[in-house]
Amino acid sequence: THFGFRDVPVGEKQKLVGQVFTSVARNYDLMNDLMSFGVHRLWKRHFVAVSGVRRGDRVLDLAGGTGDIAALLKPVVGDEGEVVVGDINAAMLGVGRDRLTDRGLVAGLRWAQMNAEMLPFPDNHFDAITIAFGLRNVTDKEKALVDMLRVLKPGGRLLVLEFSKVQSPLLSRLYDVHSFKVLPRLGKLFANDADSYRYLAESIRKHPDQGLLKDMMLRAGFGHVEVRNLTNGIVAIHRGYKL
Ligand code: SAM
Repeated sequence: THFGFRDVPVGEKQKLVGQVFTSVARNYDLMNDLMSFGVHRLWKRHFVAVSGVRRGDRVLDLAGGTGDIAALLKPVVGDEGEVVVGDINAAMLGVGRDRLTDRGLVAGLRWAQMNAEMLPFPDNHFDAITIAFGLRNVTDKEKALVDMLRVLKPGGRLLVLEFSKVQSPLLSRLYDVHSFKVLPRLGKLFANDADSYRYLAESIRKHPDQGLLKDMMLRAGFGHVEVRNLTNGIVAIHRGYKL
């Protein structure tokens, strides 16, 4: 792949990603809050609010291990709809399922371990696919995008919430200091795990920016691709349709 982990063989990267998320699964909320000053909760709520997902829809939430997005989607699709949470990592799925069970949100949710690059579903199956803070961890993003397109129904939509490129140069510099200097230390302090936090900062920097991800979606075959920046482009929402 051209993005990230240039010196690490593909199989190794998959193992590394696995280790990172197994080691952070339990500290996951803390990590998100440290990284985003708690704003990730607002981003996620906004993401689902503008997703266009409707009552009765069948939605796949990919890389959805924490259950955060599924918890927001479930009330939208209602009892007639269905939310499938797919994640490559069993530990993350376990954490998400426990958490939503504690909140009484189990009915109509399905959990399945899967790789976004090889989705275990028939063609034309979902009304929408969401992937929040997940695409940047996928090894072969082109392959994953093509497979997402395959399992969407015609007219269905893909929604990607992901870290992107900060637009203002000043904010961008502050952000780099936060990501590379402050975060690994906070990670060490609170989770005794500086490496995972360093990996996260790296993966954010290497992830394709707004324009590049839009091009990748177009190349994969999505139509009407639109980008929306949140918080000055710290994160962006990409939306595309299967025409
Ligand atoms: N969507 C959740 C959220 O926003 O809280 C979780 C995001 S977490 C940063 C990234 C997730 O991507 C992890 O749970 C990880 O296991 C999953 N992941 C990484 N590579 C994947 C792949 N190839 N296919 C499916 N899930 C993957």
